[in-house]
Amino acid sequence: MKIYFSGLYQETNSFCPVMTDMGCFQRGYLLQDDAIRKRLNGTNTELGGFFEAVANYPAPIKTIPGMAAWAVAYGPVLRDTFERLADLIVAPLKDSLPVDGVFLSLHGSLVAEHLDDGEGVILKMVREIVGESTPIVCSLDFHAVVTERMLKNADMLIGYRTYPHVDMGETGRRATKALLKLVTEKFRFDTVFRRVPMILPVDNTETIDGSMFEVMERVKNWEKRPGVFSASAFCTHPWVDLKGHGVALLVYVEKSGHGEIEKELSQLADYIWNGRHKFLRNYPDVDAFMQKINEYEKPIAIVDSGDITTAGGMGDSTVLLRNLLSMEERILSAVPIVDAVTLEKAWSAGEGQTIDCSAGGSNDKDAYNLRVPLTATVMRLCDQPLIIKGTSFSGMKLDIGRRALLQVEDSIFLMVLEFTSMMNDPQFWRSMDLEPNSMDLIVQKSHKLFRAGYADIVKSVVTVDTPGCTDRNLKRLPFSKIDRPIFPMDDVKYWN
Ligand SMILES: [Zn+2]
Repeated sequence: MKIYFSGLYQETNSFCPVMTDMGCFQRGYLLQDDAIRKRLNGTNTELGGFFEAVANYPAPIKTIPGMAAWAVAYGPVLRDTFERLADLIVAPLKDSLPVDGVFLSLHGSLVAEHLDDGEGVILKMVREIVGESTPIVCSLDFHAVVTERMLKNADMLIGYRTYPHVDMGETGRRATKALLKLVTEKFRFDTVFRRVPMILPVDNTETIDGSMFEVMERVKNWEKRPGVFSASAFCTHPWVDLKGHGVALLVYVEKSGHGEIEKELSQLADYIWNGRHKFLRNYPDVDAFMQKINEYEKPIAIVDSGDITTAGGMGDSTVLLRNLLSMEERILSAVPIVDAVTLEKAWSAGEGQTIDCSAGGSNDKDAYNLRVPLTATVMRLCDQPLIIKGTSFSGMKLDIGRRALLQVEDSIFLMVLEFTSMMNDPQFWRSMDLEPNSMDLIVQKSHKLFRAGYADIVKSVVTVDTPGCTDRNLKRLPFSKIDRPIFPMDDVKYWN
């Protein structure tokens, strides 16, 4: 049996003004040929799961590597970058025809500057190469936006079941097993799909409790039934602006089991819709948080919800920094900021030197990322990659570029970075000899990813309603392509 595989992951934020270029993927990873296995085998990733499922299969399988690329969430992918990545996927496939099956591992919300629905376009290209009779199975993130083009061009789309995400490897194994079954048994099945016209905030859709836990339990139970080959629920990525947006339920089932599942799928869609207001939470704005800051048990992890770099925030917000600096009695605070200008200044000066600078991303006085003038001491400079140790993406090596740890007036430890990256692991600070345990407050630029690594460090977790590219209030963002009406932007009376 001969199976072709590739992976491409980028969660695009349509409102982030900085485009994703090839450098973003090179800093994450961009692998070809045997380098894919060397890097990802044994990791908790979809392709790690693919390698494991193939190795455990009772018959020999020849695997044909294409490409594997990952970039941190950012603005739309540049046209040239998208076309080069797509070529890295399709060229090795064309060279290795015929194949018995294709395993693709995609994120599901990639948008390029010249086209929406990046994954749908890639699946269509692959389908045109292998033809209708070769199975294509694609694993997707829980935050995928499942489009008609994706459904049409993949035999099966199979999603994560956890948020915060911890089941990437398991999803890869499930998807690979489904593919191998399709290749060897050539069974026929029906696709049952339902989209609910709502965009959910990501901060209240954990699968460990609450409504989304209930949704996932029902989805998992479907898959235990005879005749059901795969069942997934997709919560979608709120900050991508494309047609087909909305929470999605997707089941692949034997033709005889179609009717019953369709009925239950509708019931689950109704359950999600009827409980839509329960997903919305109110969080303090920055003024309300600052008034109560001394009431929280420390260390506090404070989630800067408008500037989440794992969802496309630019990481250059100064809203929290400005407020921490204005405190009469300061507290020890660790604050990350993306600012290439200040970084260059720190590197030119060197460790131990004092610099005058301004940190932030904009000079517009009304902007959330307004620059703040500072005098700071350069504590530490580093350009070494980071090995993530927390549960999510454990073992992943990340090039987070050059960075500088600045100390501002004894109380603020400012980590200045060249570009956005995952900042969710305690190693992020420890790589600069700063122990997060010794801080009163650590600013977080992820909604949930930091929680596993910080579980034994922080005593309080507070999400603060701040502005930025990942604004929780979707009504404040300029959506133009999504299907309307949609909840919570519009008052949708009845949908089903
Ligand atoms: Zn996700």
